[in-house]
Amino acid sequence: MSEQTKLRAGKWRNWSGSVRGQPRAIAQPASIDELARQMADFGRAGRQVRVVGAGHSFTPLAQTDDVLMTLDGMQGVISADEDRGTVTVLGGTRLARLGEELHARGVAQENLGDINQQSIAGAISTSTHGTGTGFGSIATQVAGLTLVTAQGDVVECSPEQNPEIFQAARVSLGLLGVVAAVTLRVVPTKKVNLRTRREALTSMLAHLDEYKRANTHFEFYWFPYTDGGQAKFVNATDAPVKQGGAWANFNKIVLENGALKVLSEISRLVPPLAPTVCKISVAGITPIDEVNYSHLIYTTPRLVRFQEMEYSIPAEHFPAVMAEIRERINQKRYKVNFPIECRFVKGDDIWLSTAYGRDSAYIAAHMYRGMPYKEYFAGLEEIYTRYDGRPHWGKLHTRDAAYLAAHYPHWEDFRRVRSQLDPQGVFLNAYLRALFAVPVSAPTTVQS
Ligand SMILES: Cc1cc2nc3c(=O)[nH]c(=O)nc-3n(C[C@H](O)[C@H](O)[C@H](O)COP(=O)(O)OP(=O)(O)OC[C@H]3O[C@@H](n4cnc5c(N)ncnc54)[C@H](O)[C@@H]3O)c2cc1C
Repeated sequence: MSEQTKLRAGKWRNWSGSVRGQPRAIAQPASIDELARQMADFGRAGRQVRVVGAGHSFTPLAQTDDVLMTLDGMQGVISADEDRGTVTVLGGTRLARLGEELHARGVAQENLGDINQQSIAGAISTSTHGTGTGFGSIATQVAGLTLVTAQGDVVECSPEQNPEIFQAARVSLGLLGVVAAVTLRVVPTKKVNLRTRREALTSMLAHLDEYKRANTHFEFYWFPYTDGGQAKFVNATDAPVKQGGAWANFNKIVLENGALKVLSEISRLVPPLAPTVCKISVAGITPIDEVNYSHLIYTTPRLVRFQEMEYSIPAEHFPAVMAEIRERINQKRYKVNFPIECRFVKGDDIWLSTAYGRDSAYIAAHMYRGMPYKEYFAGLEEIYTRYDGRPHWGKLHTRDAAYLAAHYPHWEDFRRVRSQLDPQGVFLNAYLRALFAVPVSAPTTVQS
């Protein structure tokens, strides 16, 4: 509940500090019934409503000067269906809590991203993903949704029930309605072995296909201005829990966060030192070998604040894009000390999924909060967009409706479903209105 107390009318900002809002009112429903009543009132009164999860998106998705709704008071598992292998949870459930509650029932999410602070509804809504060529994004784990519309109607959707809404709603940026509950496909709890090591970028690229094939999860970090990186492998195991000891914890908390903070401060204060800081960071990478339950291994604490841009590109273009990125950074000498993170995800069929219709590689660039990032991100974005890149919905980018329409085959289908479910644009803010090219004054209904 700590987040609840942080949300105050007149004052809101996201995790990275890149977005601020001055909501007139905070709505905190405690049940689906109360949520439906509140939405019916807001819809009738023509209010603007944005729902916020954990506020971990970098883009102004949750920004509003009217009603900011939080589902922090709607958390936890509601029911489980053992035969179908599904669990239904309230939309506000934070992933950390979800991991614990599922574990207590002997099940787990099949995959996760880097952190577990997000809400389940927020995570699926932006196509949040982890890594592993056998896994789709978290939204692919969704077997059904309960949506509360702008009129306060409670709509169930799944592949069998309102299938078109289901295709649109799994990744929907809070534009179709409030995701009140999510039915997730789960797997039996499993232990996994995490191994990390320092490895040269050239070596990781040379072994890319092998690493992706031979490990259920492979990802890596590459430090600009060096050939150095950290390779990360995760695989299922029956071995006993092995926590990696004090050194691994020291590595995660102090080296990955504390040292990163100190080194980032040095880069901020003396930007020309950024390449040297990259070299020091590579030298500091030490191997980790841990075994634990998957929900405890997939995610790590991220205590240092940053800005981030991440694109998905068709997996086959990955080596070419990395070569261009490397050349561009060396040429332009961007002052950056954070590594570039590379992950690999299976394609899916969700209309606004960043992996729609193609196996994808995700390349993420980070910049320490307080350091200029626009020129760096623009330089990389120019490369991504030449390779059919799709920006992560929750991370910084400069794409517009025309670009997105050309890169999402079901763009117009999504817009049609949006206008049917929310004809008055209750869930639109200025950013989303522009992104989805919904005119301000005209009726928001789009003809099919
Ligand atoms: C430190 C850090 C690490 C990250 N790691 C990863 C990663 O590994 N992989 C990755 O893909 N992304 C990652 N992200 C991005 C993050 O996962 C997404 O931005 C995610 O959407 C944030 O979830 P949230 O709960 O904070 O949602 P918010 O950012 O609060 O909201 C995101 C969207 O979901 C909507 N929404 C939220 N709740 C509801 C609801 N109940 N009903 C309808 N709509 C709703 C909002 O309106 C908004 O459009 C990371 C971000 C940070 C800051």
